[in-house]
Amino acid sequence: MIGNNLISIRSEIGEASRRFNRDLEDVQLLAVSKTRPIVDIMTAVEYGQYSFGESYLQEAIEKIRALESYSLEWHFIGSLQSNKTRLIACHFDWVESLDSLKYAQHLNRQRPTSLAPLNVCIQVNISEEPQKAGVSLVELQSLINEVLELPRLRLRGLMTLPARCSDFVEQRNAFHKLSVVYKELQDSGIVLDTLSMGMTNDMVAAIAEGATLVRVGTGIFGQRLNN
Ligand SMILES: *Cc1c(COP(=O)(O)O)cnc(C)c1O
Repeated sequence: MIGNNLISIRSEIGEASRRFNRDLEDVQLLAVSKTRPIVDIMTAVEYGQYSFGESYLQEAIEKIRALESYSLEWHFIGSLQSNKTRLIACHFDWVESLDSLKYAQHLNRQRPTSLAPLNVCIQVNISEEPQKAGVSLVELQSLINEVLELPRLRLRGLMTLPARCSDFVEQRNAFHKLSVVYKELQDSGIVLDTLSMGMTNDMVAAIAEGATLVRVGTGIFGQRLNN
């Protein structure tokens, strides 16, 4: 099932890329494996998937250690806390959910010198939901400036998780907002190559609006029991 799901998600990405004039190689697929057992990840690897997103630190560390020999790429996409940053800095390749200077400084200090700088995306709360993680557009520029000063972090781009909605036009409107900001930042001379937006239910709208990375969980691994 996982193999077939991966094949059909890839073909949906291909179709959306053609339809919206995107280069296929500009849209990467991150398999969101939170709550999934190691065997499911191994199946995805057999079908050629090498980058995975995790939200829950303890289970993620177990998986990363167990699958070390495959040299996979791991993205932390969950909420950050002070007591989590050290393990994240030591075990992940990317953090997509960076939303404060405090955690940026922790990750910068804790990133082992034996590893390449930690790739980061700043999470933007584009729908301005009060309970949701991410900086507002007003706070974004100053956090970017601060992150650019931290040598053990490599700023790659922006990530968002907009309010859930099933209407395609509304989905596009939310992603469009972030896409405009992303282009403005690039035009101002900041080197960014990652616009992480779109999940199982809104992936096509995100690709239409310029996503370079879509994060797909249920579309690959099936329904999650919780969260
Ligand atoms: C769980 C999660 C996803 C994947 O969502 P699906 O609807 O299962 O595709 C993507 N991004 C983040 C940040 C998540 O927490």
